[in-house]
Amino acid sequence: MKFINQWLRSDIQNIKAYHVPKSENMIKLDAMESPFLVPTDLIKPYLTYLSEAALNRYPNPGAEEVQQTLRSLMDIPKELGVLLGNGSDELIQLMALACETDDTVLSFEPSFVMYEMIAKFARLNYRGVLLDDNYEINLDSTLDEIKRTQPKLIFISYPNNPTGNAFDRESIHTIIKESDALVVVDEAYYAYSEDSFLNEVANYPNLVLLRTISKVGFAGLRLGLLIGCQDTIRELDKLRLPYNINSLTQASANFLLKEKEHIVSNASLIIDERQRLFDELTAMSSLKVFPSQANFLLIKVDDAKSLFEFLKDNGILVKSFAMNTQLSNCIRVTVGNTSENNEFLEQIKSYYG
Ligand SMILES: *Cc1c(COP(=O)(O)O)cnc(C)c1O
Repeated sequence: MKFINQWLRSDIQNIKAYHVPKSENMIKLDAMESPFLVPTDLIKPYLTYLSEAALNRYPNPGAEEVQQTLRSLMDIPKELGVLLGNGSDELIQLMALACETDDTVLSFEPSFVMYEMIAKFARLNYRGVLLDDNYEINLDSTLDEIKRTQPKLIFISYPNNPTGNAFDRESIHTIIKESDALVVVDEAYYAYSEDSFLNEVANYPNLVLLRTISKVGFAGLRLGLLIGCQDTIRELDKLRLPYNINSLTQASANFLLKEKEHIVSNASLIIDERQRLFDELTAMSSLKVFPSQANFLLIKVDDAKSLFEFLKDNGILVKSFAMNTQLSNCIRVTVGNTSENNEFLEQIKSYYG
């Protein structure tokens, strides 16, 4: 027996590692990244700005300027508090750490897989309430499960990854009101969505919002934020590791995220492309395309595994859910730039001949 196998918690040994597929030289439509790079005319001043970062020093611990930058990028009301994370995944982990061993984390199935993984890392129980056939919240069974398990944390991906829909707002209001949990509305896709709970945070002491810049062009910076009332943010901040936002990320965010118009116009290009993809794919009789308020589309096909392999062999990487019962024969494709989307459409059309 290897040393690590006798040393490591058995539940961790049994976890399947989060798999990131190889994507060199492929059209990468698997991870909801933005296709847009930093504009070329900004590269030089950006590099000059970066060169002024004092890398011999620890980063600014509170990253206040980054907070301000994000507040103006996302129009966050000034009475709310903001907590920064090294990606929003780190903030999910931070909230899990705040729970007691054996507390319950509740979310939905299918939804973002990190809720369950992180709950398990932190030795918490995880309950995934099944969404209905339209991937909508089943309010009755959710309220039953809340009553039965008294969850400490509830994660609601809004819009939901990987289905793309934004759940019924009234259901979410009811869940927030009917539970004693801290309810985390995860708005990773806020830039592509018609709606938000940002203006509700001040109305509910048990509501916090999770956002990230990963889906709007800056996945490489690793920067996410938790938005909540000041008291909640102040207490949770005790669990944050000092200096969790590195100096290069802080400098990059402060320079690049000031380009609000550019970020907003890129998002609107993606929304237009999403509509174009949706229309073209919906016109194909072999496919069922689900409406999306995010920068990806969930598509039900006859044989997801075979289509996934075909696309991969032709240089396009998407996400396949061939094995998931609720998503059987579904693929999820990120909306790319016009030429990437054209290539995807062309390959799909040639596959269905
Ligand atoms: C992508 C995604 C995240 C992770 O964001 P990072 O900030 O890159 O860690 C969180 N929640 C949902 C629902 C996502 O789809």
